[in-house]
Amino acid sequence: MTIEVTLLGTGSPLPSPDRAGPSTLVRAGSNLFLFDAGRAVGLRLAASGVVAPMLSAVFLTHLHSDHITDLNDVVTSRWVMSPGPAPLPIVGPVGTAVVVDAILAMLGPDIGYRLAHHDDLTDGPQPVVTEVAGGVVFDEDGVRVIAAPTDHRPVEPTLGFRIEHEGTAVVIGGDGVPCAGLDELCAGADAYVQTVLREDLVRAVPFQRFLDTIDYHSTVQQAAQTAARAGVGTLVMTHPVPAPQPGTEGEWVALAAEHFGGTVVLGEDLTTVTV
Ligand SMILES: [Zn+2]
Ligand SMILES: [Zn+2]
Repeated sequence: MTIEVTLLGTGSPLPSPDRAGPSTLVRAGSNLFLFDAGRAVGLRLAASGVVAPMLSAVFLTHLHSDHITDLNDVVTSRWVMSPGPAPLPIVGPVGTAVVVDAILAMLGPDIGYRLAHHDDLTDGPQPVVTEVAGGVVFDEDGVRVIAAPTDHRPVEPTLGFRIEHEGTAVVIGGDGVPCAGLDELCAGADAYVQTVLREDLVRAVPFQRFLDTIDYHSTVQQAAQTAARAGVGTLVMTHPVPAPQPGTEGEWVALAAEHFGGTVVLGEDLTTVTV
């Protein structure tokens, strides 16, 4: 019982009243990590009893809009809710620095208003960006986070992350299809969180832009096969495409169970898995 995973948002780019944008909270030891920062991440963090000043670091799997829509909210909340300077480590793929610089530029007027109004605020937000291609990206207090390249082409580069604490491991696979980097991250993991797509349902929608999503997301079956190959304990399906119709959740789990003998969870917002 050493790592807790909370799916903050399980949605996709299509707005849903029930599913916030993709983001996942991981508690490991004394650390709280945020993976991606999709639509309404601040609301779901609050529902989990977490506010931005409590985060140890933010990790970005990739720079698709649905995964970073509310990163600006995390940056601002961290800044205005912290009593003193509060650098926010942000680890992501190449391109992250450009995005964060643009967020700071977008927030320019707001930062100016607050600095002018509050005498005790002497500096603006302090995101500290580290762009990585892989390797150990966090190593403190017995908690390690390891990154590896994933395959979400034509979106490049993209990352998956493995969080390790006291012999327990959790993987945040992000979007993308099975690949060697993902297999390596998943090897023997207790839980594996993966974006999934139902090809049969997407193919039923005659809209090319939607059909285009098939070839760069893991299907339910592929996610289950990755989990089986890697000897994972629990497969946590998130960011389901399309959003499951109420009452059909069991179908998704059954499809995965055809390829994977471990525990299968189809996530909703605020689903928590502890391993
Ligand atoms: Zn994506
Ligand atoms: Zn996505």
